[in-house]
Amino acid sequence: MPVPIPDSVDYVLLDEATIEQRVQEMADEISSDYEGIRNEDFLLVGVLKGAFIFLADLSRRLTVPHRVDFIALSSYPDEEVEVSGAVRLIMDTRSDVAGRHVLIVEDITDTGYTLRYLYRLFEARDPASLRTAALLTKPDRREVEVPLHYVGFSIPDVWVVGYGLDFADRFRTLPYIAALKPRVYEG
Ligand code: 5GP
Ligand code: MG
Repeated sequence: MPVPIPDSVDYVLLDEATIEQRVQEMADEISSDYEGIRNEDFLLVGVLKGAFIFLADLSRRLTVPHRVDFIALSSYPDEEVEVSGAVRLIMDTRSDVAGRHVLIVEDITDTGYTLRYLYRLFEARDPASLRTAALLTKPDRREVEVPLHYVGFSIPDVWVVGYGLDFADRFRTLPYIAALKPRVYEG
């Protein structure tokens, strides 16, 4: 049964089939790049909460063995889409990172502050290698340069929800990625 489109949604930017195909392509590329790696050496680190669905789908499509772990950062305050540039660590990974090949899995890179923070955090822990994957990027909004190794889609500067992404903790479970009507976040 198709999921009804909520009234708050302006338009669907990326439908289910489009996301699925791109995630498969990203998984193929990552599997090929990490070919031959051992399970204990490869760690995917998902950034909560937004990346949980992307991580789940990507992980199941990888043909190379790997472990998964999570990290949680402070997000924008509810009801707000303002950028502060300030990133705070709320929950760290449980895994040992030193000597492992680490792939940070993020939902979206916007200004770049979050990924830059995470990259520096993990770099300081002596991983064997460090790469980043983001399903979405908003290049027009970038304020700091970040190393992005795997990217799903470049999107325009609109607030998107669905496929793990939220607005005030709503809309995460929509199977597609959609732009919200401005009135929803403008109040
Ligand atoms: P950055 O630090 O790159 O500015 O922000 C990254 C974080 O901002 C993302 O992990 C995500 O939580 C949030 N973010 C940025 N743009 C969007 C968007 O369009 N929709 C949602 N749901 N979150 C976004
Ligand atoms: Mg996020």
